[in-house]
Amino acid sequence: MSEVTEIFGSNVFDDRVMKANLSASVYKSLKKTIDEGARLDISVANAVAEAMKDWAVSKGATHYTHWFQPLTGITAEKHDSFISPAPDGRVIMEFSGKELIKGEPDASSFPSGGLRATFEARGYTAWDPTSYAFIKGKTLCIPTAFCSYGGEALDKKTPLLRSMEALNKQAMRILKLFGNTDVKCVKTSVGPEQEYFLVDKALYDQRPDLIYTGRTLFGCLPPKGQELDDHYFGVIKPRVAAYMADLNDELWKLGILAKTEHNEVAPAQHELAPIYTTTNIATDHNQLTMEIMQKVAAKHGLVCLLHEKPFAGVNGSGKHNNWSIATDTGVNLLSPGDTPYENAQFLLFLVAVIKAVDDYQDLLRLAVATAGNDHRLGANEAPPAVVSMFLGDELQAVLDAIEEDKPYGGSEKTTMKLGVHVLPRFQRDNTDRNRTSPFAFTGNKFEFRMLGSSNSIACANIMLNSAVAESLKQFADVLEGAEDFNASLHDLIKKTVKEHKRIIFNGNGYDDSWIAEAEKRGLLNLKTTPDAMPKLLDKKNVDMLTAHKVYSKAEIESRTEIMLENYVKTVNIEALTMVDMARKMIMPAVEDYISALVKTVKNKQDVGVGSKYEKDLAIKLSGLLETIEAKTDELDEKIKEYKKISDVTEASYFIRDTIIPAMDVLRAPADQAEAITDEKFWRYPTYGKLLFGVR
Ligand code: ADP
Ligand code: MG
Repeated sequence: MSEVTEIFGSNVFDDRVMKANLSASVYKSLKKTIDEGARLDISVANAVAEAMKDWAVSKGATHYTHWFQPLTGITAEKHDSFISPAPDGRVIMEFSGKELIKGEPDASSFPSGGLRATFEARGYTAWDPTSYAFIKGKTLCIPTAFCSYGGEALDKKTPLLRSMEALNKQAMRILKLFGNTDVKCVKTSVGPEQEYFLVDKALYDQRPDLIYTGRTLFGCLPPKGQELDDHYFGVIKPRVAAYMADLNDELWKLGILAKTEHNEVAPAQHELAPIYTTTNIATDHNQLTMEIMQKVAAKHGLVCLLHEKPFAGVNGSGKHNNWSIATDTGVNLLSPGDTPYENAQFLLFLVAVIKAVDDYQDLLRLAVATAGNDHRLGANEAPPAVVSMFLGDELQAVLDAIEEDKPYGGSEKTTMKLGVHVLPRFQRDNTDRNRTSPFAFTGNKFEFRMLGSSNSIACANIMLNSAVAESLKQFADVLEGAEDFNASLHDLIKKTVKEHKRIIFNGNGYDDSWIAEAEKRGLLNLKTTPDAMPKLLDKKNVDMLTAHKVYSKAEIESRTEIMLENYVKTVNIEALTMVDMARKMIMPAVEDYISALVKTVKNKQDVGVGSKYEKDLAIKLSGLLETIEAKTDELDEKIKEYKKISDVTEASYFIRDTIIPAMDVLRAPADQAEAITDEKFWRYPTYGKLLFGVR
């Protein structure tokens, strides 16, 4: 056991290392920057840089990089070495405070949605001292934000930090009203549960669809799928167990609190959950986790698939964003307390979240909208595309009582008056957990379940933090001017419940009747990315996000464009890959098999033996072959039409309404052909091999 405690964080320039390697005064000012956002002095930065470099070099590092998260969704890094020429012809290792604080990557090839063109040609990266530096391979990685010279954010970290600040500001106003004078700041925490698939590398290498798009574009289901539920929480196979052990080691070295791992519902599907931490660190850690997952897989002859829907007909992968708000004094504001006063405060934060989710359903939905996630949301395995909330029976009863001024409480049955009565403790009840709600209260946190497995969690949390900041702002505006605080508080909670209860749904979110009911309630059902993304530009959303200084108008416009561009490009690559596979692999395979059948028919005829089976099969396959050819040509034509569209919104509609349906009608006959073709003629490994191949 001591081994784990020794390796944990061994590659991280964390608090422990800082304390040991910095002078007391430098450590103190750096801590002030980290904890309270104080400005960093250049002399302090120089001292930190020096200590960071010495520590990194002692661990074998030769390079450093400003590690950042551009809008592509993956992380980016450009490595510079520490070496600097010395007068005697040798080199010394150097790293200055200036280099630590600011970098200037050649950023011209990162998507900016036109931002850099309108502002400045180049961008810069700025150190985020609230997220620890770490060593990966031989490189010291410095977590940074990425901005244009005009100050426009070109990454996901900058708006995330701004949204945390917005929520902090408004939550502090509320806490002050409740008399919490000891609290210095409020932060949101996240624990993201990450789902993934593992497949054998040798099999993966034979499938162009997996290589180019991360998902299978063809393939018929094996005789056995997930219907027996024998994989979920089942025994972990030795090869997977070895992978998980190795993965844990690598994550622990980086200070990532990997905690739980188990099999998921689908065969070959697994999950990893870390212990929660501050949102921006959780975001950095989740990006790193996804990267390390893939790296470690390669060492084990495996490939880790992070795509939302690698296999049609088999459960896809998501990411559950467990989210809460806590004070620096350690109080979870989404946890019901022991005293009437704590309970009133809890209920106010609770209804703030309810209001936020209702008012900004569209922002939460579009924050998770990608081509990949479109396959999950709304299919009967993941939350629907309709955003709703689950509170559970107990909390629901409390809210009902408040709304209707009705008695509440076990035996005493008194009318709830906030500020007087103690709520019952909310025990986490694992037997009564709603797993179909997109946004579920789980005792002391909310679990937002719509995120796709490959999404950065930044986007969802930016919208969540901002929307809740807006609720709290409106509440603080009312309460700060109130003559009778308790009475206003009670009225405000009651009014909020009344106005926003339509977003609460405690039933089965997978049920079709819910979608009809949601429509009646006036909830949004944004089925696809092209439906959801343009909502970002709605006035109410732009007004809110700019008022809290999370995004500028220009940043919002650029992001909408980048996300839609990403959507159309992703699906276009998939369509091209389908055409390619159909022509070079599927049709030739079917053709080969038909020829073999025909040859058998002839041979049998020569000796006067009947050959009905071969003839029937050859005729059936010939029919399918003709359909496949026709549908391939049709898809090819549609891709050419798509290429002529220059407006990205229009292109996204064309993709949704024309390309994707054309892909579906090509896939169907190809899969039918695969199902009746001798496996040794098929040119790529089957679903069965991919899903059950790792032992
Ligand atoms: P499950 O949802 O599978 O029952 P848990 O509730 O134990 O599992 O935790 C799921 C995730 O939620 C973990 O990553 C955990 O660290 C995280 N989590 C627990 N408490 C909080 C909290 N207060 N804020 C944010 N995340 C939390
Ligand atoms: Mg969970």
